[in-house]
Amino acid sequence: MSAQLFVVATPIGHLDDMTFRAIEVLKSVSVVAAEDTRQSAQLLKHYNIATPLTACHDHNESNKINILIERLKNGEDIALVSDAGTPLISDPGFKLVRAAQEHNIRVIPVPGACAAIAALSAVGLPSDRFSFEGFLASKQSQRLLQLEKLKHETQTMIIYEAPHRILECVKDMVEVFGAERPVGFAREITKTFETIKKMTLAELRTFIENDHHQQKGEIVLVIGGATEEHDVNQEKLDKLLLRLLEDLSVKAASQLVADLTGIKKKIAYQRALELTQKD
Ligand code: SAM
Repeated sequence: MSAQLFVVATPIGHLDDMTFRAIEVLKSVSVVAAEDTRQSAQLLKHYNIATPLTACHDHNESNKINILIERLKNGEDIALVSDAGTPLISDPGFKLVRAAQEHNIRVIPVPGACAAIAALSAVGLPSDRFSFEGFLASKQSQRLLQLEKLKHETQTMIIYEAPHRILECVKDMVEVFGAERPVGFAREITKTFETIKKMTLAELRTFIENDHHQQKGEIVLVIGGATEEHDVNQEKLDKLLLRLLEDLSVKAASQLVADLTGIKKKIAYQRALELTQKD
């Protein structure tokens, strides 16, 4: 008698990024459990889907689960959607999926858009091994601790970040991972102002500092994994700069470091400034 729970991915911007199967499933189920019913109503309207919606979000998920499980047991198919992309990926749904499994209800994924995977597929960093870190803590002290734990991770790392925190977050990454660590910046994927770039962390900091538009919209950061080269370079660079700063100005010390090591003068200068400000 028991029916099926479909976990349906929806677009992350461009409405055409909806699969044929997702449309069919949303049309066929008894109810669509949505993170925000107003948001999903627009999507359903766009595809002429008349299925009723019911709210299932972080704040009511626990209470709502029993009702949804009861409906599934009574033979009603249900689709779970979030505001954008794949449910459960930094979005609600985990508790419902777990409860469905516990009640022996079949859970069927209907794959589609996911910002993390879209970013990884286009930024040009190694994609054979990667970790998804979701959102980092909003408090700087906690964020720095999280970054310290990731410092020696050799896999590519995918991070979601809110636009109003992006600059602070990138500054912290420069501090912990080092100025030269490669990073992919994927903003507003599939939307009008889509920006996809690969550069170093120091270059990204300058890029978003100089262009405030880059601090708006939705953003995924893809961080290159640690290599011995990065670890050693950062340590060596700091040591060299600190020694030179004992006798030289920031400008002279960074010029010399750039000449000696071949790293960009802007990066050496920025790091020299940070090191002098720390003292
Ligand atoms: N479930 C979604 C998915 O599958 O990607 C993620 C939802 S999470 C609440 C929202 C975050 O995903 C945003 O803050 C941003 O980091 C990322 N994101 C979602 N859509 C995006 C887009 N079009 N471009 C860049 N990042 C996006």
